[in-house]
Formats: sequence, structure tokens, C-alpha cells
Amino acid sequence: MIEMQEVWKTYSDGTPVLQNINVRIEKNEFVYIVGPSGAGKSTFMKLMYREERPTKGQIFVNNFNIGKLKQRKIPILRRNIGVIFQDYRLLSKLTVQENVAFAMEVIEASQRSIKKRVPEVLELVGLRDKINSFPSQLSGGEQQRVAIARAIVNNPSVIIADEPTGNLDPETSWEIMKILDEIHDRGATIIMATHNREIVNTLRKRVIAIENGRIVRDTHRGEYGYED
Ligand code: ADP
Repeated sequence: MIEMQEVWKTYSDGTPVLQNINVRIEKNEFVYIVGPSGAGKSTFMKLMYREERPTKGQIFVNNFNIGKLKQRKIPILRRNIGVIFQDYRLLSKLTVQENVAFAMEVIEASQRSIKKRVPEVLELVGLRDKINSFPSQLSGGEQQRVAIARAIVNNPSVIIADEPTGNLDPETSWEIMKILDEIHDRGATIIMATHNREIVNTLRKRVIAIENGRIVRDTHRGEYGYED
């Protein structure tokens, strides 16, 4: 469960980027975040994984009040949230297998569990045959699948995806969506910012639209609703 109560966010230059956000996302929901560039979508999601702190208001993730979370407790939150970006953000000097294993090493998982779990998630994203490749040897879609494997390897309850198909062609975008939908079916909560009208209007889910830092629409099985 994720809840924001009267959340405001102002960056140091003083303009409010999010204004009085009130929202509740239940366990195992799949939510698209839509809206024009600069509307505040990334900031909205950064608040959820404590990349940014709210200027005002309260944010709860799985009943943790994360605005108040002590620095030393942040790793516990991050273990519960997997994050995926438009530009993949893989470590270029590590192989596919090592990129995914690294996410388990930072939470001090045992070598035994890493050996067992990494091949499982690489199987799930369909990359078993690329385990020893480096990111530069992979297509964009393959790199995004590594990023997804890394995001889910510690079994987080929440996946946050910031324009995960933004750099991909339509066919590859659908492959990525199939994987995210599968992860959703296995019980994860998914929050995905996107500009992909076709995906939003075809794979129908809850749609939250943000404009000028405010939630202007929140619809069950909603539509993309923008001309861009
Ligand atoms: P979106 O994801 O919808 O494109 P963002 O959340 O990235 O929107 O940005 C919303 C607004 O906040 C924009 O005007 C952007 O320039 C501004 N902004 C984002 N990050 C920062 C930052 N770290 N410092 C100052 N302003 C920022």
C-alpha cells in the first residue's frame, strides 16, 4: 500500500512541483502515471522511493512513514521497491549476470541464494542465453530486461517504472509490457509513468494524470487522454 496525504514538493528554486497530492494505491494495483513533460511525474515517483523528500505532507509505503524514515532504514525501503528507468542504468563493466547479482550483494544476500535466484529472474525475463554478455553487447530491449531482472531480484512488493519503454520501438515495448504484466500477476504493485498512448489504451489499468503538479484525473481502467 502506498499513500500520500497532502503532499507538496518544492525544489530549492521555490516553485512548487507537486501541490497537495492525495492518493492511495493498494497492494497489487497496476497504475499508469500520465501527463505532459515537466508535470511532476518523476518527482511523484521519486518521493515513493525516497529519492526525494516531501516539503510538506506524509507518505506511507507498506505502513512506513517514509518522509520520516531514518537514513539507516532507507535500505529496508529500497529492498521493497524495484525501480526501472527509461535509460536502463546498468553497470557497463559488469556482465548481465553480475548486474543482477550486484543488487543482491548490496543487501548482503548469501552467495548460495544469489546463485539460485539470479538464473531464475533471468529466465523470467527471457535472457538465460545472455548471462555473460555486457550491456553494450545487448539491444535496448534486452538491456531493459536486465534492468527489470535487477529490479525484481530481491522480490520487492512494489515496482516503479519511469517511462520504461521510452527508448524502445513498439514491438519491443510490448515485450517489456508483457514482462511487467507477468510480474503484476505474480503479486507486485506496479506504478509506471508513460507517454505511450497505445499501451495505456490497450492494456487497460488505473490511470492517474498529473498536470502542473496536481492530480487532475484518476480513473479505473482509464485512457491516455492526451494529444501529444
Ligand atoms: P515529469 O516527470 O512529469 O517530466 P519532473 O518531476 O521530472 O516531471 O519535473 C517537474 C518539474 O520539476 C519540472 O519543471 C522540472 O524542471 C522540475 N525539477 C525536477 N527535478 C528538479 C530538481 N532536482 N531541482 C529543481 N527542479 C527540478
